[in-house]
Amino acid sequence: MIKQNLHTHSVYCDGKDTIDQMAQTAIQKGFTVLGFSGHGPCRFDDVAMKEKDLASYRKEILEAKEKYKDQIQIYVGIEEDIWQRVASRDFYDYVIGSKHFVKVRDQVKNVDYSPAMTDEIVSLYGGDFLAYAKDYYEDIKRIAQFEEIDIVGHLDLLMKFNEEEQYCSFTDPAYLGYAQECIDVLVQAGKIFEINTGAIARGYRKYPYPHQRLLEYIFQKGGKIILNSDCHDRNMLDCHYPESMKLIRDLGFTSMMVLTPEGFKEAPIDQFSL
Ligand SMILES: [Zn+2]
Ligand SMILES: [Zn+2]
Repeated sequence: MIKQNLHTHSVYCDGKDTIDQMAQTAIQKGFTVLGFSGHGPCRFDDVAMKEKDLASYRKEILEAKEKYKDQIQIYVGIEEDIWQRVASRDFYDYVIGSKHFVKVRDQVKNVDYSPAMTDEIVSLYGGDFLAYAKDYYEDIKRIAQFEEIDIVGHLDLLMKFNEEEQYCSFTDPAYLGYAQECIDVLVQAGKIFEINTGAIARGYRKYPYPHQRLLEYIFQKGGKIILNSDCHDRNMLDCHYPESMKLIRDLGFTSMMVLTPEGFKEAPIDQFSL
C-alpha cells in the first residue's frame, strides 16, 4: 500500500523538525514515500531557504534517502514560489509551484500570513474580495507555462482565513468562475493538483485545499491529484489523511499520482492506504 507526502518542510525553512526526524516519523507512521519541499529562495519571504543553504539541504536529504532506503523512498523536492522560480530544475526530483504573495497598489502582501493581512489585502482592493480573487487566479494560471512545476500547491490559499465565509461564499458563481478558468488552464497543461491538509493542522480550516466545489470541478475535467500534508511539524505528517482519502473516493477519483524513481505515475486509488 502506498502512503505518500511530498509537501514537507524542515528546519531548513519554517518547519520544526530536522530532515532525519521527519524521515523517522514518516517510517513510524507507515509512509512509503516522503518528499521534502523546503520553501525555495524568495526575496519576499524571510523564512524561505537561502541560495547558500540549498546544497546542504539536498545533501542531508540524500543522506536520509540512503540511510532509510530499505524502509521508505525519500525524494528531494522544493516548494517554489511562482514569483521566484528555481535556478536549476536538475537539482530536484520534483517541484511544487505555489503562490504566496499578491501585489496590490504597489505593495506586496502575504496571502498565507494572517486574518489581519487578508483584511489589509481586501481593503487595498477597495473591499472587493472578488477583484482580489480574479488577480490571484490570473497569476496562478502562469504555472501552466512553467515547465519545472509538477504540482500546483494549495490552489485556493486565498481562502485560508475564510472558514466562516467572512470574505466570500465558497460557492459564489463569480468566484468559482475565476477558479474554474484557472483549473482549465492547469489541467490542459497536465499539472497535478495537490489536496493539502496544512491549514487543518494549523487550526484554520476544517477541510483541505482546494475546496470541495473546486475538487468536484477538477474531477469533472479529468485533473490529476495528489494528497499532501504541507507538514511543518512531524506530529501532523498525516493530518486528516483518512478523512481526505474518504473525500477523494466519494468525489469519484479512481487514481492518484505517486512519485517513483522513474518519475510521477498514476496509481489506482485502492493502492493507497486509508
Ligand atoms: Zn506554500
Ligand atoms: Zn508548504
